Amino acid sequence: MNFQTLYDFMYTLVKLNDEVTDRKALTEGFRKALSIFFSIEELKIFLMDEYSFLLKEFTKPWENLSLSNESKEIKENFENFLVKKNKYIINSNTLYFPIVSKNKTLGIVKLSSRDEISENNIFFEIFPLAIAQISAYIISLKDSEVVKISSKFHQTVRNIAKITETQYELDYILPIIGEMIDGFIQDHLIYIFIKNKNKKEYRLIWPNKCSDKQIYEYLEEITPKTDVIIKQDGKMGIFPLIVDSKAYGAIVAYNHFDKITSKEIEYLKEIKAQAQATIERAKSYVEVLEFATLDALTGYNNRHQFEKRLKETTASSKRQNQPLCCIMSDIDYFKKVNDTYGHSVGDFVLKSVAKTMKKELRESDIPSRYGGEEFVFLLPHTNLEEAKVVAQRLRSCVEAKKINIEDYKIKDVKEISVTISIGVSEFNKQNKEYTDLYKQADSALYKAKESGRNRVVVFGKDCLD
Ligand code: GH3
Ligand code: MG
Ligand code: MG
Repeated sequence: MNFQTLYDFMYTLVKLNDEVTDRKALTEGFRKALSIFFSIEELKIFLMDEYSFLLKEFTKPWENLSLSNESKEIKENFENFLVKKNKYIINSNTLYFPIVSKNKTLGIVKLSSRDEISENNIFFEIFPLAIAQISAYIISLKDSEVVKISSKFHQTVRNIAKITETQYELDYILPIIGEMIDGFIQDHLIYIFIKNKNKKEYRLIWPNKCSDKQIYEYLEEITPKTDVIIKQDGKMGIFPLIVDSKAYGAIVAYNHFDKITSKEIEYLKEIKAQAQATIERAKSYVEVLEFATLDALTGYNNRHQFEKRLKETTASSKRQNQPLCCIMSDIDYFKKVNDTYGHSVGDFVLKSVAKTMKKELRESDIPSRYGGEEFVFLLPHTNLEEAKVVAQRLRSCVEAKKINIEDYKIKDVKEISVTISIGVSEFNKQNKEYTDLYKQADSALYKAKESGRNRVVVFGKDCLD
């Protein structure tokens, strides 16, 4: 026996313990170790999925293997390990061996070599040790994935519960819930639908598009007593949102290839229960907060108060014949901040941006949180020229501000910065509706986004700069 070869092999395997964090890297590590014995062309691992009882490729568990030619050969050989208890199978250039844990056969490794594989290969002398080690790695990675998923699940439920700490506008809350579920259930498409009040039909709230028109038909089956509806051969789960004992909407999870597992159903049921509770709370807040004026996160006026102030300021601008301007801002690519650093960092960034902008305003200016990451400012006694200067100052101060996120302990990231896009409009006494003032600022803001972001656009003009 060549001890050096065996030593190299075991050393490469043992070192994987420090290096490996995902399935691809682990497979690559095995390839490297096994290439000490074989000139490997391809190495594939297949595991039995405990929910669907299908063999799945380790690095691509979402793929539907049963459609491929490889499937038959893998299945047959797997059964040989399972039933006939073969130790390994050699088929000219290909070697198959089982993944075993506690005497159970859990999967199969397929190694394709450039050369014919011989039983005299020194690998077979340490075969039991090798498969025990390889199997242990695979099982321990799988277990750690389960722990990770379960902690991510609890975090998602907690985050959904916490949304109402920062806002209570359902128009903003529902897409955030969609994003959160999507981040957690990654193998399925997630949709959120809400029932229209008057028309009774369902409309898509998150994401922007749903090409599966059939979902709408399934949604009609929801009653206030429905727990979950499973469709498309178990590939689609419809989880009704029941609020105040009425069908309010639904969360839909769909995967074109795979059935939803019973574990995922369990998770989604709990998530849906939390989403229902959050929606109920937000609805009752709206009633209570009708008398509140300030937004809890930023200390700005809330949307309700903004609408009141808009009416007042436009009326007095008309009466006193004084100029009045409106500035509307929206943080650029804010979704990315949430996706990269998490929702609580997102909240912190929102707070910080609001604070940075507030410092640049005059006492008489009226800042409000319009919703989400959109802020709106009313500037009484201010003409368009002055408002443009203020807007540019807000934009550049936000851009320059370094937001310290050290407290959130995200790897090496100490500070981040964001930019905002701004739309500016001036009150025109000829306008029929007082709400035109902010609608025009909003349409200028849209242009600012369209033309590249981190810029100021004045309503009726293409660009300020
Ligand atoms: P852009 O405006 O540049 O087009 O891109 P965006 O990524 O900012 O897109 P959009 O304005 O459409 O999305 C707003 C995102 O803001 C959605 C949600 O992730 C996030 N958001 C809204 N309200 C809150 C909140 O209260 N807290 C946090 N953390 N995120 C929020
Ligand atoms: Mg926005
Ligand atoms: Mg934005």
